[in-house]
Amino acid sequence: MKKLDTTRSNELFERAERVIPGGVNSPVRAFRAVGRTPLFIKDAAGSNIADADGNTYTDYVGSWGPAILGHAHPVIIEAIQKAAAHGTSYGAPTEIEIELAEEIIAAFPSIERVRLTNSGTEAAMSAIRLARGATARDRIVKFEGCYHGHGDSLLVKAGSGLATFGTPDSAGVPADFARNTIVLPFNDADALKRTFEEQGTEIACLIIEPVAGNMGCVPPGEGFLQAAREATSAAGALLIFDEVITGFRVAYGGAQELYGVKPDLTCLGKIIGGGLPVGAFGGRADVMEHLAPLGPVYQAGTLSGNPLAVRAGITALRLLKEIDPYEELDRRSAKLEQGLRDAAAEAGIQTTINRVGSMLTTFFTAEEVTDWPSAKKSDATLYARFFRAMLEEGIYLAPSQFECAFVSLAHIDEVIDNTISAARAAMSSLTS
Ligand code: PMP
Repeated sequence: MKKLDTTRSNELFERAERVIPGGVNSPVRAFRAVGRTPLFIKDAAGSNIADADGNTYTDYVGSWGPAILGHAHPVIIEAIQKAAAHGTSYGAPTEIEIELAEEIIAAFPSIERVRLTNSGTEAAMSAIRLARGATARDRIVKFEGCYHGHGDSLLVKAGSGLATFGTPDSAGVPADFARNTIVLPFNDADALKRTFEEQGTEIACLIIEPVAGNMGCVPPGEGFLQAAREATSAAGALLIFDEVITGFRVAYGGAQELYGVKPDLTCLGKIIGGGLPVGAFGGRADVMEHLAPLGPVYQAGTLSGNPLAVRAGITALRLLKEIDPYEELDRRSAKLEQGLRDAAAEAGIQTTINRVGSMLTTFFTAEEVTDWPSAKKSDATLYARFFRAMLEEGIYLAPSQFECAFVSLAHIDEVIDNTISAARAAMSSLTS
C-alpha cells in the first residue's frame, strides 16, 4: 500500500482549527469518525478531486450529492461564467427563476408551485412551517435516522452528522420544540398507522426521506411510502417527501416517480443547484398559497433565487433531461455494488450493501439494514479502516459509515473497475 503524503492538508487543518470551530464548516467534513484529519481540496474535475498536497482521488462524495454530472462540468462552468458577467445578485425577480421553477414542476407532477431557498435545511424548515401554518396543527412526524437539515424541530434523532457523532439530539434545541416532533422507526408501517390513529388529528405533517440517505442508504420497504400516504391523507395531515438527495438522483422525478407515491410537499436541494447553493420546496398550490406574500406563513431570503445559482441549476437539470442518464448510472452502480460485494467476500468480510440507483452504502454487517437500529449494527470501526485503506488506494469515500457513496456520470466503466480493484486491495488489508 502507498503512503499518502498529506503534509499540506495537515498544516491547513491546524490553521483552520485556530479560526473555524473544529476546523470545518460542516461537522462530518472533520473526518473524526474515520480516525484521521481531513483533506483540504483544491481542485475537482469529472470523477476526480485533488487535495492541497497534489494527491488525486476518485471521488464518491460528489459534494454529498450535487455532482451527478461530475465535477466542473464544462457546460455548467460556462453558464456560471456567462451569468456572473451580468451581476451576481439583485434581490429582485428574474426570468431564469421562472424557468427553474417550470423545469422542477415539469419533472415533479406533485409540485404545482415551488419556492427557492439557499439550502436543503431552509427548504425542509420552511416546508414544516408551511405545513403547520396550513393545517393549524403543531405536531410533526419524522423518522429515526432521517436528516432534514438542522432546523430546530428536525434535529431530533436525525442521521448524518448526528449519527456519526452518536448524538441523537442537538443541544440548544428547546425541549418545547422537540416535544412537538414525534419520532418513529423507519420502515415500520404498523407504528406509523398506530400513531396516526391515536394522534392523527393533531399532526400537521409527516416528513420522510423516501429513500433514507443519512443513516447510509436505506430503501423504503414494500408499501411503506404508500402507508405514509394513506395515514396522512386520512388524518388531514400533509405528506412531505424530503428529496434533497433523491430528487433528480434516483430518477429525474425523484423517489416519488420511482415508487409512484405523490406527496403534498417536496423538498429539493443538491442537484438542483448544479453545485451552487440552491434548495427548494414546493407542492400543492392550495398549500403553497399560505406562503407570504399571498398568505400568513412567512418565509424569505436575500439570496434566494440568486442568478448564478439558478443558472447553474437550470443548466444541470437541462443536461440531465437531455442525457437521461438514469439507466446508465444504475448499470454502473450495480457493477460497483457487485465488485464491492465480491471484494468483501474474497477477503472473508461480511457486508450488506444497500443501493438505490446511484446511491449506495457498504455496511459492515451480515444482517439486513432496514432502519436505524440495524444500520447501527454495522462495524463502524471497520468502515473507518476501510475508508482509510481506500484513501491510500486513491478512492475518496464518505468519511462516515452513515452516508452514501454517489456515482456520477463521470464515473465511467474504467473508473468503476479501478475502484473495484482498489476495494479488493483495501478489503484484504483489513484482515491482515
Ligand atoms: N435533507 C436531506 C435529505 C439531506 O440529505 C440534507 C443534507 N445532506 C438536507 C436536507 C440539508 O441540506 P443542506 O445541507 O443543503 O442544508
